[in-house]
Amino acid sequence: MTGHRLRLDRLTIALGGVTLAAIDATVGPGEVLTVMGPSGSGKSTLLAFLAGFLDSAFSAGGRVLLDGEDVTGRPAEARRIGLLFQDPLLFPHLSVGGNLLFGMPRHRAPRHRAPRECDRRDRMRAALREVGLEGYADRDPATLSGGQKARVALQRLLLSEPRAVLLDEPFSRLDAALRGEVRDLVFARLRDAGLPAVLVTHDAADRPADGGEVVHLCPPAPHLP
Ligand code: ADP
Repeated sequence: MTGHRLRLDRLTIALGGVTLAAIDATVGPGEVLTVMGPSGSGKSTLLAFLAGFLDSAFSAGGRVLLDGEDVTGRPAEARRIGLLFQDPLLFPHLSVGGNLLFGMPRHRAPRHRAPRECDRRDRMRAALREVGLEGYADRDPATLSGGQKARVALQRLLLSEPRAVLLDEPFSRLDAALRGEVRDLVFARLRDAGLPAVLVTHDAADRPADGGEVVHLCPPAPHLP
């Protein structure tokens, strides 16, 4: 299977000399590493480190490798790691189609021809069709249901051509009926795209139906008197 591979090579994240997270894992194409832990255990901090915007209050060790390449020292925008949050975060001033076009690369490798605007629009429309939203390109995102917004956010993420994906409790705002449906769609699309994913959540129901490795972070240490 083609795709990408994410390696968390002996990662440690500490705050004030106390280790919050210590993880060593490899996430293959289409696989999901689930990181579980209660509030304050360090889930968001781990994602911030992987994405490349860890607050300087923390100290981190180890390496983040993407397809064997060390991206630990790279700025966030040079990593090509995509994010999906609990809030779909669609740009309110852009149409649904504009949201999808926004993240789509205009230029590939220097020697390749830049995609023409009409080709980008064709890809955008095909992406809407894939998730049952044909004809929605000109809609205002505010007029979409929660499930439709989640599908647009997923397609925008995939069109940005990431090499790995971070999921921060991405289904927690959806009502029970939609939650399983969106979850299954997200993991199926990530699998088809061969993308490794790190999911952080406090809810085991967010995990993909077919499992994957799970890491548990410890509850935050109580403050000593
Ligand atoms: P979670 O996402 O699991 O709820 P976080 O990663 O947000 O946990 O937080 C982990 C710990 O780091 C908590 O004790 C939190 O109070 C602390 N923390 C989070 N952000 C900062 C920061 N910018 N500076 C100092 N401490 C922080």
